[in-house]
Amino acid sequence: MAQLKNELRYLGCYDLKARWLIPNDTVNLSYSMDIKSQTAEELSARFREWDQPEYRVAQLLEWLYVHRVCDWDAMTNLPKALRERLRSEFTLHCLELIRKQGSRDTTQKFLWRLSDHSLIESVLIPANPALYGEPSDRHTLCVSTQVGCAYGCGFCASGLEGWKRNLNVEEIVEQVLAVERVVQQPTSDPQPPALERLVSNLVIMGMGEPLANYDNLMKALRILNAPWGGGIGARKITISTSGLAPQIRKLAEEPLQFRLAISLHGATDEIRGKIMPVNRKYPLRELTAACEYYQAKRGRMITFEYILISGVNDGLDQIKPLAVLARKLNAKVNLIPYNTVEGLPWKRPSEEQQEAFLAALEAQGVTATLRREKGHDIDAACGQLRLKTEREIEASAARSAPL
Ligand code: SAH
Ligand code: SF4
Repeated sequence: MAQLKNELRYLGCYDLKARWLIPNDTVNLSYSMDIKSQTAEELSARFREWDQPEYRVAQLLEWLYVHRVCDWDAMTNLPKALRERLRSEFTLHCLELIRKQGSRDTTQKFLWRLSDHSLIESVLIPANPALYGEPSDRHTLCVSTQVGCAYGCGFCASGLEGWKRNLNVEEIVEQVLAVERVVQQPTSDPQPPALERLVSNLVIMGMGEPLANYDNLMKALRILNAPWGGGIGARKITISTSGLAPQIRKLAEEPLQFRLAISLHGATDEIRGKIMPVNRKYPLRELTAACEYYQAKRGRMITFEYILISGVNDGLDQIKPLAVLARKLNAKVNLIPYNTVEGLPWKRPSEEQQEAFLAALEAQGVTATLRREKGHDIDAACGQLRLKTEREIEASAARSAPL
């Protein structure tokens, strides 16, 4: 299997691998529709079939997206017969919190267990960390879109153990609701009060490649954007991709105007190809053409994410080609010091090297930022808490297994 995986990597057949080579037992075949995968329009159509008045849809949506309840019986203003009908036709899954790191007003990481026992992560980042004790009001949530990742970037924890499955629509939507439930309503009150919206911005930068789960992601974002759902403005939602060129073109045609971030991490095919196998399938020429198309259609600024990894992509020889790409696409560059991943040899460069890279880029007339905050152990990229927990579970299973 490992050899086959490497050959597929070499050929760049990621989509093929995703579709055909995943053992059947990892695919959830007994999938019944979840209520949070439905748009208001779909629910209205269903309620009409059931001869239910339209206002019942608004009542249901309020229970789901304002009170964030996890139990049909909590929906006390819906008639019992309607609740029973809903229960028999839909599931109402809520994410189960199994681990949390960080505390209020700092970056917080949440590890969730899904109904098939897969683990995923979300990260909540306050916009203005309350240095002097006052609570921060705006929060960005980093959301996962897949269990694992098929794209196997050499530096990333999410891809280390391969791809397991796409997240369903409701599993993406639920990450926002579940975080708000945990942070704002620590008690398990069966009749919870209306909660304030905590998450104001979304970054689709958690585990997985968002554009490889395109349809589920788009539907989830429509629900999270809708005034009856998450109410989060499309311009406050950033999708990050490792560079799936055809899907970037598709995204350009979407009615909602999301922001786009490209995980570049190398400004030449040689460097990028070494650390991101996807570059062999969509080399820089193809990727930049897709970004130009996106920009021409949308007129929106693109962001390049560039992790600085010591001795790999932090050489000043990357500055000129990076500046050429950034100027061509009018892109802003976010430099991110690498977060070490247990089991991988990669390291972040010294602060002097990071500053030198930033200064050289700015000297080329590029708009760039360098993430300088401390405490990167908790701020680490998504995928690491899951990896750590899965390794702990494996280790304890090995310890308790009979010899
Ligand atoms: N698959 C998508 C989105 C998820 S990864 C993508 O690749 O864009 C989100 C971001 O985290 C990407 O820019 C990714 O390169 C970065 N990342 C992954 N591992 C990291 C690490 N160890 N340190 C810093 N950033 C990392
Ligand atoms: Fe997947 Fe993104 Fe990690 Fe690459 S960086 S392995 S595409 S999650």
